[in-house]
Amino acid sequence: MRDWLSHRARIEPSGEALVVARSGDVFTFEDLDTLVEDLAGRLAAAGVGAGTHLGAVLDTRLEYVCLIHAAMRLGARLVPIGDELTSRELAGQFETADVTTVVCGAETEPAVVDATEGRETTERISVLSVDDPRTSGAEALSQMEPETVSPADWALHDTTLVLFTSGTTGDPKAVQLTMQNLLASAVASAFRLGIDPDDRWLVTLSLHHMGGIAPILRLPLYGTTVVLRQSFDAGATVDDIDRYDATATSLVPTMLRRMLARRGTLPDSLRVVLLGGAPASTDLIERCRDYSVPVYPTYGMTETASQIATASPAEAFEAPQSVGRPLFFTDVTIVDEAGAPLPAGESGEIVVEAPTVTPGYYGDADATADAFGQHGFHTGDVGVRAADGVLTVLNRLDDRILTGGKNVDPGEVADVLRAHPTVYDAAVVGVPDAEWGERVSALVVPERAHRSDVDAHADDPSDPLDRDDVLAFARERLAGFKLPKTIAIAESLPRTVSGTIDREAVRAQFSGADAGQPPAG
Ligand code: ATP
Ligand code: MG
Repeated sequence: MRDWLSHRARIEPSGEALVVARSGDVFTFEDLDTLVEDLAGRLAAAGVGAGTHLGAVLDTRLEYVCLIHAAMRLGARLVPIGDELTSRELAGQFETADVTTVVCGAETEPAVVDATEGRETTERISVLSVDDPRTSGAEALSQMEPETVSPADWALHDTTLVLFTSGTTGDPKAVQLTMQNLLASAVASAFRLGIDPDDRWLVTLSLHHMGGIAPILRLPLYGTTVVLRQSFDAGATVDDIDRYDATATSLVPTMLRRMLARRGTLPDSLRVVLLGGAPASTDLIERCRDYSVPVYPTYGMTETASQIATASPAEAFEAPQSVGRPLFFTDVTIVDEAGAPLPAGESGEIVVEAPTVTPGYYGDADATADAFGQHGFHTGDVGVRAADGVLTVLNRLDDRILTGGKNVDPGEVADVLRAHPTVYDAAVVGVPDAEWGERVSALVVPERAHRSDVDAHADDPSDPLDRDDVLAFARERLAGFKLPKTIAIAESLPRTVSGTIDREAVRAQFSGADAGQPPAG
């Protein structure tokens, strides 16, 4: 396959490729292609070529978009890494993914240089900056004499991208994604969401996660526009959707919640709000229904190059907890603990077979072997499929709470707590307990704590939340063994960058003696 961007620039040079929200600058496919050609030439002059493991540690900006396409043009393997990581964490990810060259910017240069200098191995990582370097540890790309680059041919089964998972269950894992994975994902997504030639996809998720990078990779393939936001801010993101007439965006549930809290609803230019990364609560989906937000709840992961299943708004409003049907090309099987397929209606581990599935974790043959079974890739998530094919994700295998010999689904308990009028959000975890094995424990965010962040009039002296009342409410809806034995109150829930609840951090809130008073009864 040939370079998508150079092809798009030939067939549709004046089509709008990119709008940078902060400046309002607009780039056509021809403009973007010219910038990418120049950057690819400079990278080539710095020794980057086919197969180079090219790290990217950059904040979201025009140069990052160019870098993604320049790496593809050179046939390099891009390794996007979080720009918020410490030098120690960076060093670990460079090592894991065998990064030999890193591109940074003024903001990230100190940590990147630090990470490369502190290495134990002797092989030097070269650091290239898209800005004027501040130290002698980095070289300026602008100082390189660009070489002439002709777009590399892409082999479908070569690894193009190495993306780190969010690290919800342990250290982030380096997932290899091939051109086939990316292409199959782009095509299947287009079948599910549709493509309008006038689409403008607003990107506000970090580019080192699949949800953020996917629209950037796909823009030349679809021939549609990306509106790039530098970072997430609830109110300003809604305003940018409005200002730039965005028709689509990907969000994690926390973002959508905050955007609705700030602006009430979303602009009606939107035709797709792809919502994933973490479970969306029923009340959030209901709110979307009430405010006509075209929400597409999706379930996906880094290892499947994003979406596995996605529901349309109509499907979501009908069954707010479901994530719809698998995308085209994707086969989902629900299996029991022994790996045997289960019939519709029974819950078990979600296993995926699809051309979007990674060939494996980079440099970790053991983890790769563990992840694949007879029916495909084991997601580590628990779900159930209805007879009509609609999938519901329940929780992660690791998250199930075993209390007094019984299994509790933390998502079910959190959903009930969230339905209480004074509870804004809730997370439920199992905390080690001598008597019960694990104790069901809930961390709740009161509605008022959240409102105070909007109107700042929270000087009501009363307790923000009546634990007994919440518990009585839960008792009417849940079997006794599922009831939280401890309820703690927080201003917000700790989350990972992709919006999943940081369960370790939640558990840590219960390790102190005064974490929460045991509820009466
Ligand atoms: P790690 O693999 O390092 O523990 P992670 O799994 O959070 O981190 P990602 O690949 O970013 O890293 O996230 C994919 C996971 O997010 C899925 O396996 C699933 O657990 C969760 N997830 C994504 N979408 C949904 C959804 N709609 N409902 C429930 N869970 C979801
Ligand atoms: Mg994972």
